[in-house]
Amino acid sequence: MKFETQLVQFEACPGDPALATSTPIYQTATFVQEDPEQFGRYDYSRSGNPTRTVLETQLAQLERGCEGGARAFASGMAALNAVLRLVRPGERIVAGSDIYGGTFRLLEQVARPYGIDVAFAPTWEEGALAACLNDRTRLVLIETPTNPLQRITDVQRAAEAAHHAGALLAVDNTMLSPALLRPLELGADIVIHSATKFLCGHADVTAGAVIVRDPALAEQIAFTCNAEGTALGPFDSWLLLRGLKTLALRIDRQQAGAKRIATFLAGHKAVSRVHYAGLPNHPGGDILRRHAKGPGSVLAFETGDRRLSRAIIERCRLFKTTVSFGSITSTISLPCCMSHASIPADVRRERAMPEDLVRISVGIEDVEDLIEDLNQALNLATSPPTATAPHVATYSSSPVSV
Ligand SMILES: *Cc1c(COP(=O)(O)O)cnc(C)c1O
Repeated sequence: MKFETQLVQFEACPGDPALATSTPIYQTATFVQEDPEQFGRYDYSRSGNPTRTVLETQLAQLERGCEGGARAFASGMAALNAVLRLVRPGERIVAGSDIYGGTFRLLEQVARPYGIDVAFAPTWEEGALAACLNDRTRLVLIETPTNPLQRITDVQRAAEAAHHAGALLAVDNTMLSPALLRPLELGADIVIHSATKFLCGHADVTAGAVIVRDPALAEQIAFTCNAEGTALGPFDSWLLLRGLKTLALRIDRQQAGAKRIATFLAGHKAVSRVHYAGLPNHPGGDILRRHAKGPGSVLAFETGDRRLSRAIIERCRLFKTTVSFGSITSTISLPCCMSHASIPADVRRERAMPEDLVRISVGIEDVEDLIEDLNQALNLATSPPTATAPHVATYSSSPVSV
């Protein structure tokens, strides 16, 4: 079955006597046992729930994991934490040095104090990953393209390097989703998602997922999920299942909009640089074209001036100022103050993350409306202050406090 068919044609209600079309929400904590010594398939929803099982079966198929190879978590961070549990004190994790702020915090403030040796490598640079691997390395963790700077790592080569050192490769596939990139097919061992983003697509649930190829690894992840009690609840599982059905449609449309918007921004005089893997000459663009079905719908741009960036964001009407991305509604943010604020300023500088960087996530609105919104915001924010435009005067003279 092709991916788009699989999204809507799956066993939604295994064993359901009413033959419902949509998966029932098994809103229950406990399941009655017919025999006090011989438990049935389900006993307690922390360990397993039929609504969540349908979701997990679907996630395993979409990411090409093994049977029973997916677990749904209460958040992307819970999913990441379950993967970090594979690493013991004294062992090493090598992570891409342009990772999500929350992942950086988890590695620095949870994994490192627990005795794990954490190293960061610009995995998109030739040889950078191999230089950080040693015989104690258990896990390599990457994102591609990174968020928001769109640095591209070759998943196939990262898998080869990790395996050569005896380590597992985990890819956080939140940015592209399996509609565009399937890392397990390229040799990765583990795929992680913040399902809060594209998989759900409607910004109405926080969820995470881990999908693996190896049944023994799947058992370890399932053990941690149950032992730590981080599984996704039945209603949120249902919301995620519902959102997933339109994944391909949403991604296609959002990506088409992002391409148009990237071209518009690249041609605007107030924009000094656009970071989007879909633009010609983007570093690593050839790797992405070989491995993925497209660059996705998140992009970023620089203006050269943090106050100007802030003014642009404040003047957008359709693009709402929110953290997160991947929803059907378009959003805009200043990563240094929002999604990446948990990375200290000096580390952000070291990693060449500009303070004036604006990130956009393109939704499913009419793209002409979106371009018009950005255009008026860019033009207003860059026009000189006048008596008839008090807002402009306020913004250009007031100090920025964020
Ligand atoms: C948002 C995000 C996370 C964290 O997921 P939550 O669902 O917010 O816990 C992890 N990785 C990436 C790439 C993200 O964008």
